[in-house]
Amino acid sequence: MQNDGNSNQGGGASRSPRRRRPRSGNRGSGNRASGPKPAPDQGVKIIPFGGMGEIGKNMFAFEYGGDILMVDGGLAFPDADMLGVDILVPKIDWLIENIDRVKGWVLTHGHEDHIGGLPYMLKQLPRKIPMYGAKLTLGLLRGKFDEFKLTEADVDLREITPDDRVRISDNFTVDFFRMTHSIPDNSGLIIHTPIGKIVHSGDFKLDYHPADGKTSHLAKIAAAGAEGVLLLLSDSTNGERPGFTPSERDVMMAVDDLVARAPGRVIVTTFSSHVHRIQNFIRVAERHGRRVAVEGRSMVKGTMIAQELGYLVTEQPIMSMDQVAEMKSDRVLIITTGSQGQPMAALSRLASGTHRKVELQPDDTIIMSSNPIPGNEEAVNRVINQLYDRGVKVLYPPKYKVHASGHGSQEELKLILDLARPKYFIPWHGEPRHQVNHAWLAESMPRPPEKIVIPQNGDILEVRQDDLKVVGQIEGGVIYIDSMGRSTDEIGEPIIRDRQTLSSEGVVVIMAVAGAKPVAEIIVRGVAGADEALRNEIQRMTVDALKRGKSENKRLNDIRDDIFYPVRRHLRKITGRTPLIVPTVIEG
Ligand SMILES: [Zn+2]
Ligand SMILES: [Zn+2]
Repeated sequence: MQNDGNSNQGGGASRSPRRRRPRSGNRGSGNRASGPKPAPDQGVKIIPFGGMGEIGKNMFAFEYGGDILMVDGGLAFPDADMLGVDILVPKIDWLIENIDRVKGWVLTHGHEDHIGGLPYMLKQLPRKIPMYGAKLTLGLLRGKFDEFKLTEADVDLREITPDDRVRISDNFTVDFFRMTHSIPDNSGLIIHTPIGKIVHSGDFKLDYHPADGKTSHLAKIAAAGAEGVLLLLSDSTNGERPGFTPSERDVMMAVDDLVARAPGRVIVTTFSSHVHRIQNFIRVAERHGRRVAVEGRSMVKGTMIAQELGYLVTEQPIMSMDQVAEMKSDRVLIITTGSQGQPMAALSRLASGTHRKVELQPDDTIIMSSNPIPGNEEAVNRVINQLYDRGVKVLYPPKYKVHASGHGSQEELKLILDLARPKYFIPWHGEPRHQVNHAWLAESMPRPPEKIVIPQNGDILEVRQDDLKVVGQIEGGVIYIDSMGRSTDEIGEPIIRDRQTLSSEGVVVIMAVAGAKPVAEIIVRGVAGADEALRNEIQRMTVDALKRGKSENKRLNDIRDDIFYPVRRHLRKITGRTPLIVPTVIEG
């Protein structure tokens, strides 16, 4: 009953999730968190920098008695209309303002949506913060250092195990607890504060057969629940999905079955960070007498880091693509990047026949051990069609059970809710549909939380022993990064708006030379309904403005405005469009 979109929010009014409408802009309500230290008897402030209403850029600040504890620092991938933007990271002005009070930074695991933003942030921080993460998490973070010209001297990384207790400050002690997910060394957190325990689930699914055999430490959540949990923050990604999420072992068995029947090469694609699955693919290959090669920059790098740190075990060394070329096709299994249809990734190049070393053969089998992330459906679809065109076998979910989510479904979410039995609950790590469904699940429990709040990114929440509520906002927001050129090119919203206008409306470039004999050159590109007559008219308007400017002795900037506004009006009248207009006026 909790899964259909029609069920009402159930429960008493006090327990309905507070879904707050998005605000325009990021102006706070005057209740800024920076400034004087709060008195120690206040509640714990919680600020989500991201991860609310989205799956991406997860990052929290917890604040109590003048101390700040940070959790994660992720990136997000852009919407389709953010043209040319490759990644988004949270703005950290608040963090920089309050840096002296930050006592520690805790990392739950090594996925991009939890650590991918850190290299950008670390470069901006005025001082080093002790940063706690498990071995693989720190290894993956260090793997980014080169690209960002960071060195060990710029950071204070402290390795923990996913079962450690770390005293961050007088006000914060963190108990890590292992949670199974799609990457090893993943943990949830029990944050002990003077006013109670906050349980942060981390990303999780409850996998009883993970590749490394290490299951979730549910006993720690149960113990916290028995003692009393003030607040639970829990992963909402699959809040709409009934039942249980399949185990990584189920995926391995499905792939094993397909590899057993494959006549030629097997090419499998998944995320390079999906170490559990890659380990299982290697086991499958070994069982069937196939050697493993990895292909694609991030896959080569990811598997190298995981191997060096002991998270990937192979009987024989992983091969390069050059070595593969010499092997019999039914002795080879290639693990490659490109599961999201990224045009430059290895799978796309194989599909389009532009890979430098490998050409697909009719007896090749391609297994896509992934689902498209929302927004990538079209790109993935294109690659799949290209693969069909090449006549190879291409196998993907849901027909083949070759992928499983890394996030728990409703039955798993309920188990966490039941073990933790929190007084207050914040469904986190999800889009609104996932968060609200997670809230409904919580309300359906025999002992539901007293209050559930779904905040917005940038909200300041306060949890006290008697309430949980939003008390203000920080000056939040995101930084757009265009990483195609250099890895740290930050771009502003005006650039994105210009790109959107360019792509949908076209561009009119006006080059005008002011002076005794005014000249104007007009270039129109991509403007529907524009013809020679329109171009001539714009040229005439420009020359007129130049002549008027000359006779009235106007400044060049004013002449430019005299061209811009009438041309824009005219274009709109004739074509019904508002293309990007780029007027340049120079002295003749
Ligand atoms: Zn994750
Ligand atoms: Zn995540």
